Amino acid sequence: MTTLLVTHDDCLSHVTPPGHPERVARLEHLLPALEGKALTRVTAPEAQEADLRLVHPQGYIDRIREGLPQEGLAQLDADTFLSPGSWRAALRGAGGAIRAVDMVLGGEAANAFVATRPPGHHAETETPMGFCLFGNAAIAAKHALDRHGLARVAVVDFDVHHGNGTQDLLWNEPRTLFVSSHQMPLWPGTGRPEERGAHDNVINIPLAPETGGAEFRAAYEAKVFPAIEAFAPELLILSAGFDAHKSDPLANLALEDADFTWITRELCAIAARHCGGRVVSCLEGGYDLGALASSGAAHVDALIRAGG
Ligand SMILES: [Zn+2]
Repeated sequence: MTTLLVTHDDCLSHVTPPGHPERVARLEHLLPALEGKALTRVTAPEAQEADLRLVHPQGYIDRIREGLPQEGLAQLDADTFLSPGSWRAALRGAGGAIRAVDMVLGGEAANAFVATRPPGHHAETETPMGFCLFGNAAIAAKHALDRHGLARVAVVDFDVHHGNGTQDLLWNEPRTLFVSSHQMPLWPGTGRPEERGAHDNVINIPLAPETGGAEFRAAYEAKVFPAIEAFAPELLILSAGFDAHKSDPLANLALEDADFTWITRELCAIAARHCGGRVVSCLEGGYDLGALASSGAAHVDALIRAGG
């Protein structure tokens, strides 16, 4: 079966200020690196507001929509901005994740990579944060639970930053297991092991600065894989950030492309044992353009091999 690549040109219309790391060029480097691969390309639809309401209150959605500038930029916090194209871009991100869930659960594809921006894993219930507007991975999880009737969905976030938004959105959701590995100390400062969710459904794996592939793999083997195996998910959603790469300018971990191949392969193997290999991966961070392209391509190659 095939691997999906879900994206949309609208995601190039979310503009940030000059020098901002979360920039249009990210997709302009990543997508060409995926050309020629055995992928089924899917146009990300716009999410409906009802989709966003799976995790965000209407008042928050209204605030983002009404905050859109007619021209130029509007600033939501120290590093989160809206441009005139941001609303459509954000809807494509959530809508793309939902379409990927529909197609993977519908048996139309083995797995999927949703290459959209802005990212989503820092957006909390009522707070945009860290370049993120809507919690795409959490929306996809709730969509699978509430609308497809799944009983258990695991979300694994290997972005170098703590997935505080996804944690917030899924904190009270016993049908999910949320796992985040992240550098600590590092922005946003949350993600301590003591943060375990209302139903013991959150696992945080802080990693010290300079952690490399061997320690990263050991942490996943000791703490993450057994927990996912025990949870036995019916769908695995990934928050795939590539900013734990050694070249990334925003953090200090030392992963290489081969580590992203490894984590993808191992997580796909767990999915194969529990849920027919059903994996939906959503792009989060990754700010060195070359490393984003190469590690993103390594991730997608591993998805293709797992799905083939
Ligand atoms: Zn990040």
